[in-house]
Amino acid sequence: MKRALSTILGVILLVPSMVSAAEGNGSVGNGGDNHPADNGTAWFLGDRTIRICYEVSPTFTSSNVDYRANIDSALHVWDDYLAVLNGQLSIQLPLTAQHVYLDKCDGTQDLAIYFGVTNALVEAAKSNYVNPTGFARRSEYNASKGWGKGFIWIAAENSVSPKFNFPNWTLPHNLHGMLLHEFGHVLGCDHVDGTIMQENISDLLSAETDSETRRMRLTNIDGNKFLVPAGNRIFRGTGVSADTFEIMTGRRHVGEITISLDASNNFREVTVVIGDQAGTTRIPVLFSALNDINIGTGVLISTRIFAIARMDENNHWQTMSLGCPAFVFYVNVTTASGELVPALFQVNMGTSNSDRRGPINVMYLHKNDWVDLFNMTIQ
Ligand SMILES: [Zn+2]
Repeated sequence: MKRALSTILGVILLVPSMVSAAEGNGSVGNGGDNHPADNGTAWFLGDRTIRICYEVSPTFTSSNVDYRANIDSALHVWDDYLAVLNGQLSIQLPLTAQHVYLDKCDGTQDLAIYFGVTNALVEAAKSNYVNPTGFARRSEYNASKGWGKGFIWIAAENSVSPKFNFPNWTLPHNLHGMLLHEFGHVLGCDHVDGTIMQENISDLLSAETDSETRRMRLTNIDGNKFLVPAGNRIFRGTGVSADTFEIMTGRRHVGEITISLDASNNFREVTVVIGDQAGTTRIPVLFSALNDINIGTGVLISTRIFAIARMDENNHWQTMSLGCPAFVFYVNVTTASGELVPALFQVNMGTSNSDRRGPINVMYLHKNDWVDLFNMTIQ
């Protein structure tokens, strides 16, 4: 187990690597690659404070939006996420979500947010997209300072598809989710299916998406997948049946069944905790030596999470990024009768938005069927 998991974590972290010398400025490519090393990387490195301004078009929305509260909240969600990662992955991503507001967008800002407002810069950037709902555009980046400048633009209500009343900023969480997505780009994240960074963010904003799903997905970074599966915490779950409760605990349940998954040592020690009004039972997920087989690690290689690039004093690029991995292990769990049964421990293996298993799923083999023991829910 230890060997296999450390391999996975080794793949996640592309730790600071030198990418070839560059010739003096941030626009030079890395050794024959057509893409500059800082293409799509985080805009603001270090612990300076981002100076934000925003402008709102009168046509942006008819609802009474507290723009600062939405911006503050979205950046706070990222700040919390980065704090967890920095704590759990034993790395320090030099990214910041600290910010102050300027009274107006006068050109001295680091980041402008245009709510439906257009200007020459917006129009020029917009021509790169087809009828966008929003985008983040970095206009300058000083790789030596690790500091850029740019803007986020978000389309006015009904302007993308008037017929379908889209986008609709009066729907709860929509604007928050849109900002969360665009700030993810500012932090150097690519698109990742199943998270707030999913490319088809418009699907989540749709009025056809039920309100609970919208709340869960538009207020969290993680969704049906983790952006980065750091694991030293307790995950809440659903999906355990009364029969499974009885198989695992040896008794019928009393009242509501609760289930959680306790992961420590970055997923090296995993316990499913199943309970009801009468008490709790801890079921260790056993990564035995015999079952130390990782049957399905997948890493979305093209995906870069929190990509960082800056130039050191010798004009060498220093780059760093995480990937978004998925893996599945053969494991065992022990039933109440003492029987050791085969199980699967899966992280990020969901493949579509309709996959409701969540980022973590544990299934055990019962009468030749895979039965859910734990499904993570986002709350
Ligand atoms: Zn995007």
